Amino acid sequence: MLDLRHYRAVLLDMDGVLYRGKRPLPGVAELLAVFNERGIAYACVTNNATLTAHQFSEKLASMRIHMPAERIVTSPLGTRRYLEGQAPRGTGIFCVGMDGLRSALFDDGYFVEDDQHPAFVVVGMDFEVTYRTLRRACLHIRAGARFIGTNPDTTFPAEDGIVPGCGALLALLRAGSDQEPYVIGKPGPALFHAAISLLGADPTQTLTIGDRLDTDIAGSRAAGLPSLLVLTGVTTAAMLDASTLQPDDVYDDLLAVAAAFRAA
Ligand SMILES: [Mg+2]
Repeated sequence: MLDLRHYRAVLLDMDGVLYRGKRPLPGVAELLAVFNERGIAYACVTNNATLTAHQFSEKLASMRIHMPAERIVTSPLGTRRYLEGQAPRGTGIFCVGMDGLRSALFDDGYFVEDDQHPAFVVVGMDFEVTYRTLRRACLHIRAGARFIGTNPDTTFPAEDGIVPGCGALLALLRAGSDQEPYVIGKPGPALFHAAISLLGADPTQTLTIGDRLDTDIAGSRAAGLPSLLVLTGVTTAAMLDASTLQPDDVYDDLLAVAAAFRAA
């Protein structure tokens, strides 16, 4: 059991923690209220590459969850930061992805879209992906473009069940190109480090909350942070029992987490 009194900053996953599909999960308002009362800093850290931070903020607002865009660290933002360190302004990218990724890569003109000789093929989730796009991506990777994935999540929770995610697209492209992607999001530590610096938080007093063992909990460990698992997303109690990778604490939902913070 974690001593919750110790933590001054909390990094929250979103899908399966704050909401599922278009429905907020129980206890979000209660938890943020406790954080605000106690002066505990918080930010969201998500592998989800489909929306921009502003779009996520609006999506959360539509569920009556107040979360400023500045407190949302997405895997496209982490990917952009990584690529900037790898390549100069004007570098061409072939992008498989949606608004969240496209805007992080291309909006300010640092990178340009390139379907001829791109230096990178960057892949995020794309709900409208076509065979033509996947085919082009494989050909570019075979021609020498570096293969980058925003996040490894093979699935994510939707309102109607568990559905294929970015990791499933990466698996298809890996099979089609015979190349391994370099993947930016959780379970790598990059997004957690970005969020800690964003909040100006002390890593020794920072806790993470997530719903997936292979990304949230493994990523926390990679970043050296303690983690709390909620059972409102992908991981069931049975999956947790069967796993060798264990979080530092487990709660049914955020309602229980909020009560525990209040009681601490
Ligand atoms: Mg999640």
